[in-house]
Amino acid sequence: MIHGPCGTLNPNSPCMREGVCTKQYPKEFREKTEENINGYPMYQRKYTESVRVGRHDLNNRWVVPYNPWLSKKFNAPINVEVCASIKSVKYLYKYVYKGHDAASIRFENENTLDHDEILAFLDGRYVSAPEAMWRLNEFNLSEKSHTVVRLAVHLPDQQAIVYQNGQEEEAVARAATRQTTLTAWFQLNKNDQDSHNYLYTDIPHYYTFNKSAMK
Ligand SMILES: [Zn+2]
Repeated sequence: MIHGPCGTLNPNSPCMREGVCTKQYPKEFREKTEENINGYPMYQRKYTESVRVGRHDLNNRWVVPYNPWLSKKFNAPINVEVCASIKSVKYLYKYVYKGHDAASIRFENENTLDHDEILAFLDGRYVSAPEAMWRLNEFNLSEKSHTVVRLAVHLPDQQAIVYQNGQEEEAVARAATRQTTLTAWFQLNKNDQDSHNYLYTDIPHYYTFNKSAMK
C-alpha cells in the first residue's frame, strides 16, 4: 500500500497540483498517532529504512493507511482511515446514498454535437431492481432512532471533574458551583411536584437538562 510516488520522484503523478501532492505525501515520520479535529488523524509512522518498490526507494513516509487483515482477506489494496469525527460520519453517509459516478463519451464525424443532457443523465443512471423497489415504496433510506442521554451516577460530592495539572483547587471550586444531571435531578424533585411521578432513568422523556443553565 504505497502512495504515488509523486513529488520530485514523479512530478506528473495525478495527485500533484502546482508542484505539491494534494494528499500531502510523503508524510512526516511520527512517533505517536495524533488526533486531528475534523480531519484525518496523523498516524504513527515509525522511521524505516528505504526499500526498493518498483523503480524507487521508498520508506514508511509513503505508506497509505491500511489494515493488514483486510488486505490479506480480500487480496486487494484497501485504504483504511479512522472515522471518528461527526464530520467524517456525515461524509460517509452522503457517499452511500449519492449514487455512483457516470460519464458518457461520444464520437461524431460531423461538427454538430447533438448533446441531449436529459437523455445523457437518464442513460448514465442505473437503478437496480431492489433499489427501484425501495424507492417506489418510499421506504426510508436512513433512519434516526432514539437519543441516548447519559445520566451521571455518583456518591455525594464525588462527581467526576476534569482539571489541568496544578489547577486542582480551581477545578474543585468550579465543580462545587455546578450541577450534574444527578444533582439537578435532586433539585428538580425539590421544586417540581410533577417530577415525582418519574424514576431518574425516565426523566429524559419528560425533561431536558440545560447544560449552560445547569437546570
Ligand atoms: Zn501524491
